Amino acid sequence: MSSDHQIKLGISEIGEGSSSRGVGVGGGATIPSGSQPPPQLSRYESQKRRDWNTFGQYLKNQRPPVALSHSNYGHVLDFLRYLDQFGKTKVHLQGCVFYGHSDPAGPCTCPLRQAWGSLDALIGRLRAAYEENGGLPEMNPFASSAIRVYLREIRDSQAKARGIPYKKKKKKRNNIIPNVKANKETSNT
Ligand SMILES: [Zn+2]
Repeated sequence: MSSDHQIKLGISEIGEGSSSRGVGVGGGATIPSGSQPPPQLSRYESQKRRDWNTFGQYLKNQRPPVALSHSNYGHVLDFLRYLDQFGKTKVHLQGCVFYGHSDPAGPCTCPLRQAWGSLDALIGRLRAAYEENGGLPEMNPFASSAIRVYLREIRDSQAKARGIPYKKKKKKRNNIIPNVKANKETSNT
């Protein structure tokens, strides 16, 4: 039961030795501190790598730590909720006078959240990263229907709270602009 680090974490190449070699100091794998990604990586690729490492770190910080190979959609959902504290998108609560206003006239105390578009893009990157790092497609927790359902709920509730309809068929040109903004918002954090 000591196989926590079997799945490669993208950049952290765990030395040549086999896992059976007892590591002397401190124990645990070394997380490369801000290690240098090869410069030829595209923005998407480096973002994907960062996301993947963040997720791996998140699992390691659980009590008890969760191995990547044992992660399931429940961990992914927790991870998404955990990320909300770093969100930058105001999502009005139902009691707020600005509920349903995409462009409120004043400040309020409603929480900041991750915008739906950001989470959706994040899940897409992690889904790809999971399989690129040796995960089996049929085991991919990011491809779970529970995640899809969760994202759809987020999308709908944020649409209501912010007065932004997410219409699939007919794009209203006026309303679509805030959506695009919301999507971009967290992509360069
Ligand atoms: Zn509010």
